[in-house]
Amino acid sequence: LTILGIESSADDTCAAIVDSDGKIHSNVVIKQHDVHEVYGGINPLSAIHSHQSNMPFAVKRALKEANLDLKRDIDGIAFTRGPGMAGCLSVGMDAAKTLAAALEKPLVGVHHMQAHALTVMLTERGNEPKFPFLTLLISGGHTLLLLAKSVNEFKLLATTNDESIGRSFDKVSKLLKLKWTNLGPGDALEKFVAETDDSAESTVTPITRPLPGQLAFSYSAHHSQTKALIESHGGVEGMDIATKRAIAREFQTAAVGHLEEKLVLGLNWCRKRDIHVRDVVVSGGVASNSYLRERLRRSLDKYNSDESFRLFFPPPYLCTDNAAMIAWASTYRFSKGDTDDYSVGLLSKWDLKDLNAYKT
Ligand code: ATP
Ligand code: FE
Repeated sequence: LTILGIESSADDTCAAIVDSDGKIHSNVVIKQHDVHEVYGGINPLSAIHSHQSNMPFAVKRALKEANLDLKRDIDGIAFTRGPGMAGCLSVGMDAAKTLAAALEKPLVGVHHMQAHALTVMLTERGNEPKFPFLTLLISGGHTLLLLAKSVNEFKLLATTNDESIGRSFDKVSKLLKLKWTNLGPGDALEKFVAETDDSAESTVTPITRPLPGQLAFSYSAHHSQTKALIESHGGVEGMDIATKRAIAREFQTAAVGHLEEKLVLGLNWCRKRDIHVRDVVVSGGVASNSYLRERLRRSLDKYNSDESFRLFFPPPYLCTDNAAMIAWASTYRFSKGDTDDYSVGLLSKWDLKDLNAYKT
C-alpha cells in the first residue's frame, strides 16, 4: 500500500508519501515560522492563509520527490482529522477529500497524537517497541503519559492541568527574547542553553517542582516561576548573558525533571498492576530536545528493575509535525479496508480514548 498523507493541524503544511513496508518516499514540510515570529506565536488566520497557499505545492512536491503518479501509484489518501486548529485542519482535510473523491481513492482521517505515538513503529521497523508500552507525547498542544495497549488503544495515565510543555518552552523563550530558529522558539531555547557553559558563573534560585508524587503535569507553574525569576534579576533588558542563560538552563532542567518524575511514577503504576512494560516511547516536537533525550535515558538506566528498558525516540525531524507519520498511522486502517466516507468531518477536539468513536 502506498499512501499520500496530508497534515495541517497547526503551523506546518505537510505532505508525504509512505508505504506499508515502512519506506518514506517523500516527506515535505513547509514551515511558517517567519509568518508567526512577528506575532510571537501562531496567528490562526495567518496560519490558515499560509496553509491555503502552500498546500498545493506541498502535495505537488511530495509526488515529484517520490517520482510517483497520484492516479496510478497511490492506493489511498490520509489526512489529519484532529485534534488541532479547526481552520487549519480544514485546509488539509478539504484537499485530501477532493483528491480522493476525484481520483476514486479510499480516504482515512487520522488522529494527530496517535500518529505521533506510532512514528517509531515506522522508524524502528524490525525492532519496534512491543505493546504494552509507555509513551510520553510532548508537543505544542499536549503533555500526555499513556499506556499504549495496541495501535489503537491508549490509556491516559497523566495529562497537564494547565499548559503543555511545548507551550511553556515557547513562552519562556519569548520572555527571554530569544531569536527563533527554523524549528521555533523551543528549539531556540535549547540551542541557547547549549551554546556555552557560562551560566556556571551565575547562580539563580532553583524552580520548585509542582505536584510532587502525583500523576499529573503542570507547566504554567514552571513558566510563571521563570517569569518571576527574570523579574527578580531586574527584567530581561540589560540582563547579562550568563544570567540569562542560567535562567534558561534552570527552566529546561526543571521542565525535563518534571517529565522524568512522571515517567518513573508511570512505570511504578504499571509495576503495581503487574503490567509488563519494557519499552518507552517519547515523541512530539519537544522530544527533539537532546538534553531531554539524554536525561530520560539516564533516568531509565537507573530505574530499579530486573530487566533494562528500551527507550525509543523518532529522529528529530519526525518528532515535530510531518505528514509521514499521518500516512504511516493510516496504513493500519487501510490494510484492513477500514476507511472513511468522503463526508467525514474534522474533530478539532478529539480525545485519544474516543479514537474509534466517530466513525463515518
Ligand atoms: P500537538 O502535536 O500537540 O498538536 P503541535 O503539533 O503544534 O502540537 P509539534 O509540532 O508536535 O506540536 O511540536 C511543536 C512544539 O515542540 C513547540 O512547542 C516547539 O517549541 C517544541 N519544540 C520543538 N523543538 C524543541 C526543542 N528542541 N526543545 C524543546 N521544545 C521544542
Ligand atoms: Fe504535533
